[in-house]
This record gives sequence, C-alpha cells and structure tokens, in this order.
Amino acid sequence: ILDGKVALVTGSTSGIGLGIARAFASAGASVVINGFGKPEEINDSLEGLQRETGAKSIYSAADMTKPDEIARMVNLALETFGRLDILVNNAGIFHVGPVDQVPVEKWDAVLAINLSSAFHTIRLALPAMRHQGGGRIINIASALALVGLPLTSAYAAAKHGIVGLTKVVALETAEQTITCNAICPGNVWTPLAEAHIAEQAKTHGLPREEVIRKVLLAEQPNKRFAMVEEIGAFATFLASDAAASITGAALPIDGGWTAH
Ligand code: NAD
Repeated sequence: ILDGKVALVTGSTSGIGLGIARAFASAGASVVINGFGKPEEINDSLEGLQRETGAKSIYSAADMTKPDEIARMVNLALETFGRLDILVNNAGIFHVGPVDQVPVEKWDAVLAINLSSAFHTIRLALPAMRHQGGGRIINIASALALVGLPLTSAYAAAKHGIVGLTKVVALETAEQTITCNAICPGNVWTPLAEAHIAEQAKTHGLPREEVIRKVLLAEQPNKRFAMVEEIGAFATFLASDAAASITGAALPIDGGWTAH
C-alpha cells in the first residue's frame, strides 16, 4: 500500500525505528535509514531490507542534535529519490532520575533528540511535501506524552511537547493533503527491554516474570509488551491513503496505560 512512496525514519538502526522501516519497505516504500551503530550491523540491516522486500534503502548518519546534519539528511533523501512522502520522527533517548538531579546537559540532549529534531525535519520536509501535493508526518511519542510518571521529567516534557507540535503542524497543513499524527506507545519489546529485565531482576532480587509484571509493566494493564511489528503496522496504516482524514491525533498503543 506504499508502492512508489519514499520514507525517512529517524533513529531506525534499532528497535521501533527499524521495525517501522521494515514495515514500510514490505509495503513497497523506499526508505532512508538513520541512527547510530556499528557500520557492519547497519550494512546488514540495509542488505536485509533489500533482500527481504526488494525495497531500495539508503543510510544517513546524521546526529539528531545537529540541525546542519539534519538538513543534509533531508537533502540526501530528496536528492536520491526526488521526493519525500513519509517522515517518521522516531529517534529518542530516555533519562531516569528526580527532576532536581537531572544533569543540565542530559535535559538539553533529551529535548534536542526527542523534540527539536522533529521541528527541524518537519520544517525542512514540508516544502517538498507541499510541492509534490501531499505527505505524511508520524511522530513517535509515548504514553508519557499523555500522562506523567515520576523520574521522567525531561522525557515526559519532550514527549508532551511533540504532541503539541503534532497538533499545530496538523492544523497548518490540514488543507494540503498532509497529515501529522503522534503514536504513543507504552512498553515495547526492544533489545533494551531484555537488558532492562535482567538488570531489574538482579536489583530487586525478583524472578524474571515478576519483574515484567510488577516493575516494567506496572503501568500497563494488559501486562504484555507491544511488538515493534505492531507499531510498524500502525505507522504503515497512518502513512497509507486510507488514513487521509486522521490528523492532529495522539494515538496510544499502550495496552490501556492511558485509560487509567
Ligand atoms: P532504541 O534505543 O532501540 O532506538 C533509538 C534509535 O535512535 C537508534 O537507532 C539510535 O541510534 C537512534 N538515536 C539515538 N540518538 C540519536 C541521535 N542523536 N541522532 C540520531 N539517531 C539517534 O529505542 P526504541 O525503544 O526503539 O525507541 C524509539 C522511539 O520510541 C523513541 O522515541 C522512544 O522514546 C519511543 N518509545 C519507546 C518505547 C519502548 O518501550 N521501547 C515506548 C514508548 C516510546
């Protein structure tokens, strides 16, 4: 359903971003991958995408804290493919700690990567989307864009912020066949989650299953992690023609977390 479309997914060398890139490529889109990682692993991902889906994909190493690198990444997409139909702002980092103990540079980094980078990609991509007659912007927010949780001040502030940006961009582009939405995942199963379980099991002296239910998924009523494929499938739907009237929305995939 995305045949002929060109997608740029920030932070797509692992986790949710890579899941979205795979889903888009399987649906027929060409994809620009971005993020950090070992060159051989990134090459493997690109080759894997090509082999499994036949999709064309390229890589940009742009650092989402650097506006000039973000501009080069958007230009690379436009120069390589001649258009940009789908922009996914997914790159993100997390920091845990009480607000009065968050290092100032950590606050700045969380805001830069999780929020300001989306401002830059959006301002740089919109002229091309308008020129080509439409587009899709999907911001990967979080359940913490809709509710608070102690020890997550910078992250929750950035994620609440991106929902505000999503609404305003949706309103400014409403008559231009462009949509802008935020996906708000709860806990998603990524390589980091596995490491987190092992670490928490050790810290709390609890068995694995109990760490999952009582610590990691304490806020998630369905007591299961979402899979990256679920986020990829939903992003693919939002990027498709069928989702033309969904705009300005913050859409949870959180097993009921924000229904509390
Ligand atoms: P991840 O750590 O697996 O992936 C993050 C990606 O961002 C990686 O590709 C990394 O290289 C990239 N990245 C980090 N800093 C960057 C920078 N400065 N410039 C460019 N790329 C950078 O994380 P994930 O769990 O897949 O998270 C992806 C997004 O989903 C984030 O925005 C996160 O906040 C959000 N999210 C994740 C969960 C979850 O449970 N995993 C839940 C809700 C929201």
